[in-house]
Amino acid sequence: MLNMDETFFLEAVREAGACTHNRFYNVGAVIVQGGIVVARAHNEEDPELGHAEAIAIGRAKHKSPDLSGATLYVTMVPCDYRKSGKISCCQRIIEAGIVKVAYCLDDTLRTPLSDGPSILKGKGIEVIQMNQLKEICIRETYKNIKTQG
Ligand SMILES: [Zn+2]
Repeated sequence: MLNMDETFFLEAVREAGACTHNRFYNVGAVIVQGGIVVARAHNEEDPELGHAEAIAIGRAKHKSPDLSGATLYVTMVPCDYRKSGKISCCQRIIEAGIVKVAYCLDDTLRTPLSDGPSILKGKGIEVIQMNQLKEICIRETYKNIKTQG
């Protein structure tokens, strides 16, 4: 039997698997508030926001401007900075009032690795890593990726 976090996390994994056009990896995100999915997104779906979490937070806020108490399920660790100068996903999570983040994979293309989990924890946000679903998460993350060259 899956627990509630695993059930919702698999929704994010499914969302990642819906990506068809990424060059590096797929990322899926789902936001749950009051036991209900209020938004879902995958990366590169919105060229302006790019990251799955940023798109999902935007969508969720559209429906429910107050996201306090919400949980974000995301397949890859939220970024702590963006080279483009855009607001990082960690900053968006903190500003939205999200109280819990469940993720699985580290972003190994990023050096140094995202310090997201400690930044979020420092703001009192609960952070859990869904290692028990790593295998399926990796499979969907690298599905349909056209490697360069
Ligand atoms: Zn991000």
